[in-house]
Amino acid sequence: MRYGIISDIHGNLEALESVLAAINDVDVIVCLGDVVGYGANPNECCELVREHCKVALLGNHDAAVLGMMDLTWFNEMARTAVLWTREQLNRDNWAFLESLPTVKCIDDAFTAVHGSLRNPIEEYILDHFTAHASLTMLNTRIGFFGHTHIAEAYEWFPRMQKIYHINLSHGGEVQLRDDARYLVNCGGVGQPRDDNPQASFGVYDTEGQVVEVIRVDYDVETAAQKIVDAGLPALLAQRLFWGR
Ligand code: ZN
Repeated sequence: MRYGIISDIHGNLEALESVLAAINDVDVIVCLGDVVGYGANPNECCELVREHCKVALLGNHDAAVLGMMDLTWFNEMARTAVLWTREQLNRDNWAFLESLPTVKCIDDAFTAVHGSLRNPIEEYILDHFTAHASLTMLNTRIGFFGHTHIAEAYEWFPRMQKIYHINLSHGGEVQLRDDARYLVNCGGVGQPRDDNPQASFGVYDTEGQVVEVIRVDYDVETAAQKIVDAGLPALLAQRLFWGR
């Protein structure tokens, strides 16, 4: 099986369309959450995810838009975008986001979560310590997470008690080893934060036991202009050019 892994679309239609055009050689696409929030096309992005993804998980921005999370934890820009998105979201897409699970084991092949296994929609896996806590909770050889918008992997050798960090911000492959467990972030589709403005996604090939992270160009200018035109904070448009 070949699984496409996408995450953190954040209402960026141009980025999502470019990723879906590039990801055609897979059997199933899984979305790790944050379909909405920040970008100007929350409904269009929900509709494409509903159409193309067999499984989707709930992200913290999705939960915040639904009123399931305390907004005091969000910075002002994020809060503004959450409140704006709440006004835009139609009833079908609201029901879709409400139906999403927070953790899912997919075909016994891998675990999918937005944040971490310890705290599925809120915790950021940012370092060896937070990665280790989730790696010890993993019931499959590999887990995919999002939330940080940084393409990277943690490779854990339980017998040696060693964790290695793999930078995937310019794409790349991770060949899985039998004696290791993995947590992989395939990067953000709609708001990359690893200093590379290209949209990011992953492909997990279970036969070859390899994960590939792929970066694609998209129409950043249009996505950014739509954010400005919607009256959302200008910094949300600017950061798309920086990949920050
Ligand atoms: Zn996100």
